[in-house]
Amino acid sequence: MSEKNYDVVVIGAGLFGIATAYHIKKENENLAVLVIDKAAQAGAGNTAQSAAMYRDTFSSEVNLQLSSTTRDFYKHVQNDLDIDLSLKEISYLWLMDREQFEGNKKAIETMLDNKIRIEILEKGDIKRKIPELVTDFDGNEEAQILNLRNIDYGLLGYDCGALDADKITRDFYENEFKKLGGETLYNTPITKLILEPDGEKLGIPREPVGWQAKRIGGVLTDNGSTIKSDIFILATGAWSNELLLPIGVDSHAMPVKKYIFRVQHPRLANFLDNEHFNDEKTTPFLIFPIHGIHLKPVKYNNSIWIGGGSLIGKPYIITNPDEITTEDNPLNNTQANDRDYEFDRYLILAEYLPVLKNLQLTNSWAGFYAINTIDKNPVVFKANGIKGLQIVSSGSGSGIMKADAIGRIAAALYNNQEHAELYGGIKFKVSRLGLKNRNVDKEDFVI
Ligand SMILES: Cc1cc2nc3c(=O)[nH]c(=O)nc-3n(C[C@H](O)[C@H](O)[C@H](O)COP(=O)(O)OP(=O)(O)OC[C@H]3O[C@@H](n4cnc5c(N)ncnc54)[C@H](O)[C@@H]3O)c2cc1C
Repeated sequence: MSEKNYDVVVIGAGLFGIATAYHIKKENENLAVLVIDKAAQAGAGNTAQSAAMYRDTFSSEVNLQLSSTTRDFYKHVQNDLDIDLSLKEISYLWLMDREQFEGNKKAIETMLDNKIRIEILEKGDIKRKIPELVTDFDGNEEAQILNLRNIDYGLLGYDCGALDADKITRDFYENEFKKLGGETLYNTPITKLILEPDGEKLGIPREPVGWQAKRIGGVLTDNGSTIKSDIFILATGAWSNELLLPIGVDSHAMPVKKYIFRVQHPRLANFLDNEHFNDEKTTPFLIFPIHGIHLKPVKYNNSIWIGGGSLIGKPYIITNPDEITTEDNPLNNTQANDRDYEFDRYLILAEYLPVLKNLQLTNSWAGFYAINTIDKNPVVFKANGIKGLQIVSSGSGSGIMKADAIGRIAAALYNNQEHAELYGGIKFKVSRLGLKNRNVDKEDFVI
């Protein structure tokens, strides 16, 4: 392994890591910046498993700024820089019953105050525009056992949609990063962050001892070599605590397994073909009134992707750092449990959307949300008391739609700037996503 001493090493080439590396390199062209990943290419971790949806239907300032500036940047990449991201503004339709609608009124007012382009649809309108949807379950015993809620209202978000996570990761960020002279090193698992005394080593046992100042002097790879850098930026998503807990740092990223189920059938063509909502002439991304169950329409091949479902009672996955190179690490298991579809999502969806009845799954996969359990927003911070270590993690299930802003905020933190400039010129106080002076306002509109 090279004995080169890098200025910056980013560990993790998911969308957070690669966006961070790009923004750092763009602002500091002379720096030697390396991105490392254990996978064979960028974006092969949970970025690849995601549904890659984006939205601006948020009520909190932080969510709105992170997501709308990121979306606008992606649109700029596709429309002005001519790099195809398969970005399609298919809109979001949040379905809710009367009680949920009443509870969401304040959030809806905030969205309107913030000039988010939304429209409230009433039941009759929803039924007319999506005739396949069942909206009323009064007198339906099965629906009552399943605790289904009626559909009385819909909130339609216009400037929301889907993109291709691989394309934004590799065709834009990685490619541009390399053009700027950035380096990448794949197939290289990091097994340890090497904690050293900051300054002279004294040769005493178990250095650094308590009173010594500390730094990350290097990282160890699985083949036993060491990589050196002035600063390591850890962007390892759901795996973050494997490297951080052994040195007493908490990433605030708790991994929870999430499934996506896919159904493809010619019978879905009519449902997916819909001229009432968007230029793509397709049914919007639908969020059903219970357990955040959602459905992504993929019109070109008559398929839908089904995600969401209750997380209550689902385990957070704690992994032993000593197992990170083994194949049985549960965080590397991307298989979904199809019985979760059969006995949960299917039972619910077949009531709301009878067109799905008796259709078999055609594919399924799983990934891990790296959830910040306090406010479900990313964390960008420097480790307390350890020089040379910055953490960019906890996408919490909305990292694709926030990644450009997160990359800029992480670059600003690296550059010791108080504010990051997000795309479009919005100034964002970097410490808002840190741990010490964190200032993330409450979000009312969650899936
Ligand atoms: C099922 C699912 C659906 C989702 N849907 C959406 C959505 O619709 N919209 C949205 O905005 N977000 C969504 N997300 C979240 C989104 O995918 C992530 O927040 C986003 O991709 C940012 O990920 P990341 O870069 O933090 O992590 P990752 O993409 O997981 O990147 C971390 C990288 O670190 C590498 N790594 C880990 N440990 C080591 C090590 N020891 N050594 C070297 N490399 C290492 C991994 O190989 C990986 O490439 C979804 C996630 C899942 C799982």
